[in-house]
Amino acid sequence: MIRRKLFEPEHEMFRDTVRKWAEAEVYPHSEQFRRDGMISREVWKSAGAQGFLAMYADEAYGGLGLDDFRMDMILTEELSARENGFYLPLHNRIVGPYIHKFGTEAQKARFMPGIVSGETVLAIAMTEPDTGSDLAAVRTKAEDMGDHWLLNGSKTYISNGILAGLVVVAARTGEGRHDIGLFLVPDGTEGFSRGRKLDKIGMKTQDTAELHFKDVKLPKDAVLGDPKGGFGMMMHNLAEERLVGSVQFVAHAQRAFDITLDFIHERRAFGRPIGTFQNSRFAMAALKTKIDAAWAFVDHCASEHLDGNLTGDLAAQSKLLTSEVEGEVVDTCVQLHGGAGFMEEYEIARMYCSARVSRIYAGSSEIMKEIIGRGLGLGERR
Ligand SMILES: Cc1cc2nc3c(=O)[nH]c(=O)nc-3n(C[C@H](O)[C@H](O)[C@H](O)COP(=O)(O)OP(=O)(O)OC[C@H]3O[C@@H](n4cnc5c(N)ncnc54)[C@H](O)[C@@H]3O)c2cc1C
Repeated sequence: MIRRKLFEPEHEMFRDTVRKWAEAEVYPHSEQFRRDGMISREVWKSAGAQGFLAMYADEAYGGLGLDDFRMDMILTEELSARENGFYLPLHNRIVGPYIHKFGTEAQKARFMPGIVSGETVLAIAMTEPDTGSDLAAVRTKAEDMGDHWLLNGSKTYISNGILAGLVVVAARTGEGRHDIGLFLVPDGTEGFSRGRKLDKIGMKTQDTAELHFKDVKLPKDAVLGDPKGGFGMMMHNLAEERLVGSVQFVAHAQRAFDITLDFIHERRAFGRPIGTFQNSRFAMAALKTKIDAAWAFVDHCASEHLDGNLTGDLAAQSKLLTSEVEGEVVDTCVQLHGGAGFMEEYEIARMYCSARVSRIYAGSSEIMKEIIGRGLGLGERR
């Protein structure tokens, strides 16, 4: 791996702490998490006790008041690079910031302590059975009833959908295409129910579920910020979401590369290690070059983000590049494993299945190209 200049010595100390905690608390149980289709609540709470959750939260809510994206890069790299990992960035950097940035003091006082301690696992519900890429087409509706909101609709493919104690729900609040609000729906709210825990081909330790909202009465203060401003908030936060996703994708690619390098040193054919065939050498050389280039690009984007300059276009480039690199790496690594690469008991086979979603969720590769292309002034005339 290339030397990463983004990190200071204190970040490397933090990496060491996270790595030791993961070895002790997460990875010994990962087969069980895989069977359960979710991480245990104990591990969530243990992460909270370590101070790994929503570090940016104010100290008044139990947080550290430390908004350093590099800490979440480290958590992502250490906890979700391996197959059967703990996909903690969703809580920390995809959903948490909505409440941290757009929540009122009352909303933060109510929810942040649980978010920090791990008692309250977070989910965000944008996608619906009829719409995913076209976020503005959501049909879940929140009607202003004067003294309360009335929420109706269904969501699907929601990560942390079973464990979530608080769901941020995107719902239509007016007739305009972008009239969408973000609503805070805690577990136990009457009319909020969970559907199936969905069977996925990969990411088996993550619970992904359907959610249903039937005549859910929400107080007026359940909305985040402007009831018609949710679309803008999502567009704003999606850049960070795509960047933290990029970190995860390159970390996966690196892990796939590392385990494959070990494998091809050991495995022999025609009297020699398969790694010594010119084909293997060339394949690994090409992958190493792409992975290192992806790290460099991600670190550049992270540096821009730390300076407050991460644009939606740059984040889209990062997601496009890293998810495509991850896909190519795991595919080549399966090939180098031969038949073992097709066996579930081998990590590379599981990684291959999990990696497929990186080019689909959080905005597909096609949508990333749309964003980047429009930034070049190449949008369609409508
Ligand atoms: C494991 C997993 C976890 C997820 N977690 C969450 C979550 O926590 N919260 C949440 O809200 N959602 C979540 N999603 C949903 C995810 O973000 C959507 O699946 C994704 O955005 C794609 O939407 P879709 O499935 O409706 O596909 P569609 O929008 O139906 O797209 C189908 C195909 O058409 C292509 N396409 C669509 N529009 C265009 C276009 N304009 N130009 C070219 N091609 C186009 C797409 O690229 C894709 O190839 C998750 C999905 C998965 C699989």
